[in-house]
Amino acid sequence: MLRIECPCCGTRDHGEFRYGGDAAVERPAHDNSDPDAWYRYVYVRSNPKGLHQEFWQHVLGCRQWLVVERDTVTHSIRSVSFSRRQRA
Ligand SMILES: [Zn+2]
Repeated sequence: MLRIECPCCGTRDHGEFRYGGDAAVERPAHDNSDPDAWYRYVYVRSNPKGLHQEFWQHVLGCRQWLVVERDTVTHSIRSVSFSRRQRA
């Protein structure tokens, strides 16, 4: 079981959250016409062993989107931050 420290609500069970995918993937520029770039953005994901940045939304709480840095081996969470600050 994961316990995620929401910056707004405090520590909560991961069942209150929705996983939103890999937070390390960068979206191609809006006018990028390269189909391979869009294919990689939509479909290709790494399967990292170790620290990984993920989007999680606190759907049963404040509804904020968060970036959670989680170790995929131990499931320990190193950091949690608002996604809007990271993408600014
Ligand atoms: Zn929250």
